[in-house]
Amino acid sequence: MFTLPKLNYEFAALEPHIDARTMEIHYTKHHQGYTDKLNAAIEGSSLAEKTIEEILAKVSEESTAVRNNGGGFYNHSLFWSIMSSQGGGEPTGALADAITQSFGSFEEFKTQFSTAAATQFGSGWAWLVVHEGELSVGSTPNQDNPLMDITGLDGSPILGLDVWEHAYYLNYQNRRPDYILSFWNVVDWEEVARRFEAAA
Ligand code: MN
Repeated sequence: MFTLPKLNYEFAALEPHIDARTMEIHYTKHHQGYTDKLNAAIEGSSLAEKTIEEILAKVSEESTAVRNNGGGFYNHSLFWSIMSSQGGGEPTGALADAITQSFGSFEEFKTQFSTAAATQFGSGWAWLVVHEGELSVGSTPNQDNPLMDITGLDGSPILGLDVWEHAYYLNYQNRRPDYILSFWNVVDWEEVARRFEAAA
């Protein structure tokens, strides 16, 4: 059975970019809800013995409840981990080199990622993924993610941005582009680099 991962910072830690009330509701209600519903969906089945990565890799064979809640469980766990009150700035080292190689520059990467986040119609996520050594950006609807065998975006996600309205509406209302712009101030590039090295 899956448990809600511990949050490594206070709900107010990411202010003013992400407000405490949004963090609290997002973590204690939305993420907890996905976790509980995932557990309910896999209880008593062979999936209860698998890792979340194993479940997502063959999610095309599973129910909509496993797809939506398994994605929701995984995506939010990643999302909290790649943000920090000490975030922002730019990556360094191998990740910085790979971004420059794949996108031309860090600024061009930010533009492409922000565009993917802004243009995802309705609810979903924007991603930076590593696939066969190459970096790429894209988006997925609902709680789908690049580990699933049902999306057009394949690879290991190392950075993700939740663009569901529940992620920003209290503070930004309909202004998703402002939320996306603020997100760059809290990205924990050390954690993204750690995930990059683990995936590469
Ligand atoms: Mn969310």
